[in-house]
Amino acid sequence: MTVDDRVEALVDRMLTGDRRALARLITRVENRAPGVPDVMRRAHPRTGRAYTVGITGPPGAGKSTLVDRLTAAVRKTGATVSVIAVDPTSPFTGGAVLGDRIRMQAHTLDPGVFIRSMATRGSLGGLARATAETQKLMDAAGFDWVIVETVGVGQTELDIVRLADTTVVVLVPESGDGIQTMKAGLLEAADILVVNKADREGATRLVTELKYMVHLHRDGQQASRDLDWEVPILTTEAVHDVGVAELLETIGRHRTALEASGVLERRRQARRARELRALLLAELRQEVDRTLADGGALERVLADVEAGRVDPYTASRSIADELRLGRRSAP
Ligand code: GDP
Repeated sequence: MTVDDRVEALVDRMLTGDRRALARLITRVENRAPGVPDVMRRAHPRTGRAYTVGITGPPGAGKSTLVDRLTAAVRKTGATVSVIAVDPTSPFTGGAVLGDRIRMQAHTLDPGVFIRSMATRGSLGGLARATAETQKLMDAAGFDWVIVETVGVGQTELDIVRLADTTVVVLVPESGDGIQTMKAGLLEAADILVVNKADREGATRLVTELKYMVHLHRDGQQASRDLDWEVPILTTEAVHDVGVAELLETIGRHRTALEASGVLERRRQARRARELRALLLAELRQEVDRTLADGGALERVLADVEAGRVDPYTASRSIADELRLGRRSAP
């Protein structure tokens, strides 16, 4: 068996619901092992069925607790759930695996739940890509739901959030989350706002503040809105399993609104176009790197630029022309 055959066999096992095969393929995706494009190609026809929910918010807001309770609530409906827990703030040290084990405890014996943690290995862009590919594999493996949980702090997290059909932003009364949400652009990303730790002081005040912000935001955004949906603000106590059923019900309502209006399909189309663009850019970047590498065809031009003999504007134009020519004459 060649490597390709083995990878193919692994994908076929994954498509029949084999969890170990799925876990091994996710590891390949994380490590950018050879053959990932083939894996994705083979999985592609089976994607597009899962519903993806993003759960994001500051560290300590109660996201993992909430995801755990939400998973249990979804399982009660009979649907299967896979979870990707993304932590861009923690470098990969093997800790993610321990995290998985702790998370898994409540669902260990349930074959309808699959949980995977992902941490940063190198670039954040790489993490966003690995998360997107993992989501597709879980979809292809037949899970009804994919929940993507991520710490909401920066641009990469927003990229990850854009994978979701419904995005839930979780905030907590302490630490003045309201204003920070605005700053981080999280309000724009939110389809549903959740004030968790509603048992803590200040929850009512945060809800009032968020209501005000949602109204302001809505008025300013009228033209660009593609869906008639006012962002609901819910309160939960994840540790006490309070408000979780309402959250699930609200996600269902958002899904219905997206489906009935055709917006779900339009957004998914836009996501596929973005995906193509990202893949193409990555490929072109690699081509540029190869061209400029030691011993590459353009070593002389590079040397001229390094020495200051040729300006980088002229050089980049002639390199771009060269790349275009190379592509046209390629078989
Ligand atoms: P994450 O970092 O956002 O994933 O947050 P965790 O789910 O790890 O929760 C952080 C801490 O908040 C844990 O100690 C939880 O037990 C606690 N917590 C979660 N939900 C609630 C809640 O509704 N009320 C209170 N008081 N504590 C909560």
